[in-house]
Formats: sequence, C-alpha cells, structure tokens
Amino acid sequence: MHAWLLHDTTGPDALRLEEVETPEPGPGQVRVAMKVAGLNHLDLWVSRGLPAPHHLPHIPGADGAGTIDAVGEGVAGWQAGDEVIINPSQSCGRCEACLHDRMMFCKSYVIMGEHEPGTLAEQVVLSARSMVIRPPSIDWPVAGTFGLVSGTAYRMMSRSRLRPDETVLVVGVGGGVSSAAMLIARAMGARVFVTSQSPEKIAWAVANGAEAGFDSASEFSKAVKHATGGVDVVVENVGQATWDQSVRSLNPGGRLVVCGATAGNRVELFLPVLWFKQLEVIGSTMFTRSEFGRVVQMVESGKVASPVDRLFPFEELPQALARLDAGAQVGKIGVELS
Ligand SMILES: [Zn+2]
Repeated sequence: MHAWLLHDTTGPDALRLEEVETPEPGPGQVRVAMKVAGLNHLDLWVSRGLPAPHHLPHIPGADGAGTIDAVGEGVAGWQAGDEVIINPSQSCGRCEACLHDRMMFCKSYVIMGEHEPGTLAEQVVLSARSMVIRPPSIDWPVAGTFGLVSGTAYRMMSRSRLRPDETVLVVGVGGGVSSAAMLIARAMGARVFVTSQSPEKIAWAVANGAEAGFDSASEFSKAVKHATGGVDVVVENVGQATWDQSVRSLNPGGRLVVCGATAGNRVELFLPVLWFKQLEVIGSTMFTRSEFGRVVQMVESGKVASPVDRLFPFEELPQALARLDAGAQVGKIGVELS
C-alpha cells in the first residue's frame, strides 16, 4: 500500500509518499481501506516533533473514514464491507478509566497519527472498538474530517455544563475546534458570540448562527459586555494572547473551558477575580467513546453541520497541509483516496 511517511521532525516537508507493507489486523483489530483522511493542526505539530512520534518513520493523520477490508481474530460485530468513521482515540478497553468511559485517563491512551500510525495511508489497522458505522446521511468528505475537532468541541461544551438559556463566547473562531464548538453551542440552543482576527471568519460565524463577532486582538471584553452584559461560558484555545480578555468577558459564576493554547502556554490569573466572581477554569482534552457517539448523532441528524473547506487528492497532501498551515481555510481540509 501507499502511505505518507514522516522521516524526521523538521516539519511537513519531511513527509514522503512511499510504498510500505500492507498491515494485517491482529486480534481485536480491523483494517480499514481509507476513503477520506482529515487533516488537523496535530499533523503539523507532530511533523515538527511537538510531540515527537514514538517511532520514525511515522504515518500521521488522526481522522478518517473508509471501508473495512479485513477483520482480525475475535472481532465480533464488524465485517468486511462495513463503512466506518474512525475514532482517533485508542485505549485498552479494560482498565477502570476505560470501563467508566474516561478513556483519555487510560494508561494506554493514544491518539492515532500522534503516537500510533495514523490515517494518511491507503489502509489502516486499528482497534475494532475505535470506530462507528458511517450513517448514510454523513457523506464521505464530512465523515473523514469531522471527528477530532467535533469530538473535542463536544466534550468542551459538555464539561462547561452549558444550558440552552446561556451565552457563550468562542475565542479565535477560525480554528477547527473553535468553529465546531460554535456550531455545537448553537445546536444546544445557546446564544453565541465569537472573536477572530479575520473579518471573513467572523462573517462565516455570523452566517452560521453567531450573533456577533469581535476582533481577537482588541479589548473584546468591553464589546462582549456591551452586547451581552457578560457571558456564561468562554471557549478558549488561544491562551496567553486572549486570556485576560476572556476572563474579563465572564459573568459571575462563569466557566472558562480550555483545550489548548495556540498563542502562549503561560497565563496570569488575578485570584480575587476567581473567588469573588466564583469563576471556574475547566480543562478539557479529546473525548470519550460515548461523547464521540453523541457528536456523530448530532452530525447525522443535521443538528450540527461540519463544513468541509476542500478535499485534495491523496498525492497532494503537501499542498493540503500548506493550506492548513496558512490558516486560509473555513472548515475542514482532507485528502481523498480512490
Ligand atoms: Zn484503559
């Protein structure tokens, strides 16, 4: 089979399309012939060694969908020909954390394409527990691209305990997780405001249900307060650059849910604000199996759309990653296999 191999961690230019041995599924595993693989910033970070893959050469890619073409020993419920959406979270399935649907706390927890071989290959072997049937209403471009960001955004909204009568601010709505969070918060019935440095991305958000958008580089908390009086939930994955304004945007009792820090890992927090306003700072990462199932249902029912920016031919991965790296996209980028 053909796969994209990362030979060193000097960046996406270190990827080569090569012929490799087709993997065989072991016990409890299946092999999926890929139809669409979705790209994420994770793929760029891994190519730069942040984090470094466990083994080189490495096949990146977390998201994907395809058709099962081989089934390993002891696998029940799956057969060749089943069309599936891959859940990039992999875990042991047996420990306390796994049995209580908190797989990201499993000692064996890995993300496909980060620690394990990923989806940027013609065929992928993975645990039979880490996929769902592709509902017919989710077309291949969406099926192959929405998983990682939509699952992550769903868990963030779930951990924020968002109620339909509340107001949400999504900071930096250009990113994949942020735009998915905006769509999910809208689907949950909340009022949603956004920030971005891109007028086009604000226009996209407003066209898709946000009430208004503000410049991320401005003192946006003033505009947020003016428009809403203050928000109940802030969705953050920017970090240092927007932290202060995000905290200032919160109502008393507000929750700030964080899944990343694209612009600075260290922040300052003036503690009296935390206690007097009784704020909560909530960390969130990835998603559980049941959360993945629920977000698939939301996409299937049409409650949440997952926009696809563009699919490139599999051979044009470098161009696809360059578009992602440039931040020019609105929605997900993927590569299509024949
Ligand atoms: Zn486990």
